[in-house]
Amino acid sequence: MSNSSTQKFVVIGAGHAGGRAVEAMRANGFDGAVHLIGAETAPPYERPPLSKEMLVASGVECPPMHPDAFYADKDITLHLGVTATRIDRETRVVTNSDGTQLSYDRLLLCGGGRVRRLDIPGGDLANIHTLRTIDDSRAIEALLRSGSSIVVIGGGFIGLEVASAARSRGCAVTVVEAADRLMGRALPAEIGDAFANLHRDNGVDIRLNTGVDRFIGDSGDSSVREVVTTSGDKLPADAVIVGIGVDPDTALADACGLAVNNGVVVDEFCRTSDPDIYAAGDVTYHFNPLLGRHVRLESWQNAQNQAIAAARNMCGENEAFAEIPWFWSDQFGVNLQMSGAPIAWDDTAIRGDIPGLDGILFQLNEESLVGAISLNRPRDMRFVKRLMTAGKSPPRDALIDEAVAFRDLLK
Ligand code: ADP
Repeated sequence: MSNSSTQKFVVIGAGHAGGRAVEAMRANGFDGAVHLIGAETAPPYERPPLSKEMLVASGVECPPMHPDAFYADKDITLHLGVTATRIDRETRVVTNSDGTQLSYDRLLLCGGGRVRRLDIPGGDLANIHTLRTIDDSRAIEALLRSGSSIVVIGGGFIGLEVASAARSRGCAVTVVEAADRLMGRALPAEIGDAFANLHRDNGVDIRLNTGVDRFIGDSGDSSVREVVTTSGDKLPADAVIVGIGVDPDTALADACGLAVNNGVVVDEFCRTSDPDIYAAGDVTYHFNPLLGRHVRLESWQNAQNQAIAAARNMCGENEAFAEIPWFWSDQFGVNLQMSGAPIAWDDTAIRGDIPGLDGILFQLNEESLVGAISLNRPRDMRFVKRLMTAGKSPPRDALIDEAVAFRDLLK
């Protein structure tokens, strides 16, 4: 970009996407001012360890994304513990909670999501937590003590990873899920069923079709002691983890009149409805050219690669973020990966053994491959992802035949 040294880029949100974006701005040669604003006091970090490594043992730190010296070396100004409270698009100024104001030439929104909370009686009691930040993860880890009773609300990815970690620490664990299956937002019933069995085999009490009515505290202190379900059961609880999903944090974008619909609306170049403002990560509802529609994703891949694309485009490139969505979860030593984000499929094809937690389930629509979910097949999945990215749909017979190597189908 011309005269970049006089330009100023401001990034709101110092999570995974924000951290990668400022790195990519410098890597792409931008030599103007870069400001990164983040509500948390920690510098940027990636979130997967929060529900995995950090919960299975005490004292595990979340690695920062960059070494301490990185921000000074790259002349990136961090504003941590600071919330951006207002965007004035006319004057191109961001106002922050600490009273500072930052002008921008280009602004990047990486504000991520807000965890949903349960607004029910007893919801304010101590030892009820959501999981989104390092602080949340530390607070939860401290409660996973052998013999404790942990109730997890929500049988999605976060809830089930917490359940797995809590069992490994010797806790008694109950998962309360409102829907009729686990991980139903993103995955078909065959996978949810296989994981319900996995959790039950490992001693987790899984309650499907069950919501939460209220929390009851101890008479002596303000800590939670019982969870009352919508079926009237009372579950003993030393701690409760609420993992009922995340909403995009669109407040700033709404207030300044950007197009918002299930997230900040951006095109495949990460551009919002304002040509000076870009967005990346969990907060976006973005056009994916490979899927031919807008999607909102909460994933490592989306935080990482959409942020890099946004930064490059702010620097004057014209590079579409166009990847097949990919996601993983680890529970009780089983590696789950999914590729694609199908809304409809008319056929499934299975290689291996899904109930046995060793196989791949393919989702086909009009004979084209639109989704794949692998259980303990990470190496195969690397090639399946490449097949899907290349838009290839191998014949059904080849997909299900263990003798056919996915690598060969790429040729
Ligand atoms: P996350 O990424 O936080 O795990 P998901 O959307 O994958 O989010 O999973 C959240 C799960 O919580 C879904 O399976 C959803 O059905 C479930 N859920 C939502 N609200 C409630 C509730 N009030 N009680 C129990 N389960 C709930």
